[in-house]
Amino acid sequence: MEVALNNRTCGDCQLCCRLLPVKDIAKPASTKCKHQKHGTGCAIYATRPLSCRVWSCGWLTDEATATLSRPDRSHYVIDPSPDFIEYEDNETGARTPIPVLQIWCDPKHPDAHRDPALRAMLEENRVISIIRYNNLDAFVLFPPSALTGGQWHEHTSATRVAGHSAAEIANAIQGATMTDHTEGLRRAMLADNQPLHDLAVADQRWTTEELQRDFTVQSFAAPFVVVTRKADGVRGSMEFTHSPRFYFNFVADR
Ligand code: SF4
Ligand code: SF4
Repeated sequence: MEVALNNRTCGDCQLCCRLLPVKDIAKPASTKCKHQKHGTGCAIYATRPLSCRVWSCGWLTDEATATLSRPDRSHYVIDPSPDFIEYEDNETGARTPIPVLQIWCDPKHPDAHRDPALRAMLEENRVISIIRYNNLDAFVLFPPSALTGGQWHEHTSATRVAGHSAAEIANAIQGATMTDHTEGLRRAMLADNQPLHDLAVADQRWTTEELQRDFTVQSFAAPFVVVTRKADGVRGSMEFTHSPRFYFNFVADR
């Protein structure tokens, strides 16, 4: 939970602490957090995981959600953490990442995403969203303004839709220096301080000097840098934080 940033406040809500996954404490999505206490909120607030600290609630922080009800009343949580779907061109097979807004829908209220106020907000802002019920079950919701048919489209893939990690977003920027379809995703990552969180759980980190020793830098697309590993010539990307400056999570090209 967060403190209020405007005239909206959490009150007795606590829905984010049930619906969202928290990797740091192995909490699955749509499962009540073991630290969540009725009437008090987070029992470990002062020492809560970094991912809980850096996360922002879309209902509290985004002016575009001003017409929406508090999450425990609307039964969904708007999660500004970046994610994407991939559009595959049928003729060329080229895959293009498209940013989506994550909305965690309470499985006890599976149709909550039909809230007219939510639909109006998504349509007005031409926002494609992914409606998530748990770690895997989800569908992509296209507003009429994003399609030519003039109707809402709920696209349920034959495969289940896991969230993308920063590493997968990194992979999506490979070769994207000419036409960068990931700018929106990367901006959202920076706005959410996601690199700082990813650094906290990274297996290995490099200082600038260590990076120059082990890799040749090709280009920057914050918060990622495209590199070639000197030891074996493998090209890939790494995430980095500005301050303190560290490089981490090397992902080889696919
Ligand atoms: S979902 Fe938003 S409003 Fe509800 S408790 Fe979490 S941060 Fe507060
Ligand atoms: S650790 Fe605290 S803030 Fe994080 S999900 Fe659990 S109850 Fe919520």
